Amino acid sequence: MCCNRSPEVELSEAAALADVFVLRLMFRLYWLPRQLSDYVAPSEDAANARAVFYEKKRLLSAFAAHQSSVKVRRDRKAVEYTKYFMISALALDTRLGACSALNGERCGIYDRRPLSCRSVPFHYSRAEALAESGLKAFVETTGYGCDTSETAPIVLKNGQIVASDMKTARSEAIAMVERDRRWSEAIVRRMKAGTQGPGTLPRLQEVEAGAHFGATTTSMSLAWQIAADVGLIGSEECNRLIKLQLTVIDRDLAASRCSPDARETLAGMRAEYQNHLHVGHAIVLND
Ligand code: SF4
Repeated sequence: MCCNRSPEVELSEAAALADVFVLRLMFRLYWLPRQLSDYVAPSEDAANARAVFYEKKRLLSAFAAHQSSVKVRRDRKAVEYTKYFMISALALDTRLGACSALNGERCGIYDRRPLSCRSVPFHYSRAEALAESGLKAFVETTGYGCDTSETAPIVLKNGQIVASDMKTARSEAIAMVERDRRWSEAIVRRMKAGTQGPGTLPRLQEVEAGAHFGATTTSMSLAWQIAADVGLIGSEECNRLIKLQLTVIDRDLAASRCSPDARETLAGMRAEYQNHLHVGHAIVLND
């Protein structure tokens, strides 16, 4: 079973699943050299480094909300990198070792499960040229219990993904991110403008500077408020999503399986969302 944690989802999916998961807005940064000649392939990429490099570049460009260039000295020469800034949403783990949508041994939202779950074991943001090594690592992961018998469905043939549902999930993810582009770009503009104070997004430079420590998360309500400010959703829809989150937070707080750490986070989010509904959103910038 690979549902041992809650999934990462795209912005539109977060809105569609606000009645299921407690969500956090998430930022991550990836670096890739601009030139193939500067790309040092990890050992598992080495056999097809050229294919991996160009596919990584294509996928990172497709999923990034913002790109910038930076030159760094490496082995006594200046190497130019592209920095890809990603915006997505993370479903909070409120149960230890299990996705919060897991119902017994089965997915409780199977028909509307996120694209990342539909594309398992080939995450849609990962190059198909890495599918072979990715599948091997996935099958070998303790606890996943993959079906590798003669009768198991064939998902990969000659390095190509052949499972139609997984292929569809990969192309749907790219289409969804493209539809969300106005939204993600509006979020980046706010982060560049850098309004400070409670209930505001972190500055873009701050997130980039801290990226080597991992992803940064913040309140999902900020993303929904921005969507309302730029006219992608109405303010009623923004409030409806926040109320849905309050319902899910209360559900998880009431569950005995909720871990103490998650309980603390949820209590903080609950107070923030209640405040949002009570006083409204005070900071609106021109986009
Ligand atoms: S949403 Fe469903 S398929 Fe995805 S991780 Fe959770 S339980 Fe598993």
